[in-house]
Amino acid sequence: MSFPTTGQPTGDPPPMSRHEGEPHVDSVNNLLNKLRASVLGANDGIVSVAGIVMGFAGATTDRHTIFLGGMAGLVAGALSMAAGEYVSVSTQRDTERALIAKETRELAEEPEEELAELADLYRERGLSEDLARKVALELTAHDALRSHLDIELGIDPDELTNPWQAAMASMVAFTLGALLPMLTILLFGAGLRVYVTVAAVTVALALTGYVSARIGDAPTRPAVLRNVVGGLLAMLVTYAIGSLIGNGVG
Ligand SMILES: [Zn+2]
Repeated sequence: MSFPTTGQPTGDPPPMSRHEGEPHVDSVNNLLNKLRASVLGANDGIVSVAGIVMGFAGATTDRHTIFLGGMAGLVAGALSMAAGEYVSVSTQRDTERALIAKETRELAEEPEEELAELADLYRERGLSEDLARKVALELTAHDALRSHLDIELGIDPDELTNPWQAAMASMVAFTLGALLPMLTILLFGAGLRVYVTVAAVTVALALTGYVSARIGDAPTRPAVLRNVVGGLLAMLVTYAIGSLIGNGVG
């Protein structure tokens, strides 16, 4: 998959594949990855909170109790997603900064080797020796650091992921997903809530499975199947446990 790039010397993917979900090659790819992360975050919210409210619904018909359980799960899940994302993106950012510093140092200390390296990389990508050397020379004169970061590491120094932004995005995505089972389990009466929730969650998981497979260029049918089966299993297990414990206590 390649999209037109803006002012970048190449539209090819970076040679070193970065943390899945955050290549910085071009903004369209970037946007798709953000969308995919949101869909997966929403998926997490649907599955974990559906499991929690089904567990409570197995144990009790009291709407207030189910609400408390679901709410605690929603808040805990959203915060845990945000914290996890913050830590992972921060670490990734530190790695990228260290690589930028290393490349800067190398360019200052051994410019000839770096020029040869850049020419080699363009030759490996299919340019003739002369042209690769010419491209490397011009790029080095224009912006040596940026050229090296781009073709060697696939890093765009202007597009380093912001950990706070990533944390916020996954928190919002999880919450949006979690709201679906919360609403279905709370809005319907004791006789219907379990069936409506299972149906709504099944449809939603089919949708998130489909969309994330499409974005990732993966076959959609197995993705949808895996996603729906996983969610159904989660609800089945918690509902069974809730029923057992609920009956045991009450
Ligand atoms: Zn280099």
